[in-house]
Amino acid sequence: MICKGDDRRTLLISLIKKEVMNMPRPMKWRKVCCMPENKKFGPVGSKAGQISYINMTVDEYETIRLIDLEGFTQEECAGQMNVARTTIQKIYIEARKKLAESLVEGRTLFIEGGEYRLCEQNGNGCGRGCRRQGQKRHFEENQK
Ligand SMILES: [Zn+2]
Repeated sequence: MICKGDDRRTLLISLIKKEVMNMPRPMKWRKVCCMPENKKFGPVGSKAGQISYINMTVDEYETIRLIDLEGFTQEECAGQMNVARTTIQKIYIEARKKLAESLVEGRTLFIEGGEYRLCEQNGNGCGRGCRRQGQKRHFEENQK
């Protein structure tokens, strides 16, 4: 037997479910293991670079670091950053394009922003591509 209270609760649950279903898909944060030490790059001694800027996001930078520097496959990079391989492919292509534009057109590259969260594995590292490994001391010193 269902009493009025149960009815109301059922209605409430169905409303909540509907609300959840209608919500936009939550953004999946891309895990980044280290922030770039330098955020601005450009042609040395040229004024051309100051005319137009290119903004590379921190997650795009991370794909370059992992794939081109650390030798990760796109699959491994996807695992490390906690996103789908198809997503990594898109981010990586975009990152490479920006690098090329900066190099070829002599435009200044700024690395900032993006859909990312910083790795929380302070000191321990979360994999072979994790730059936070052994950086705890350095990290803490910077906090002071
Ligand atoms: Zn990490």
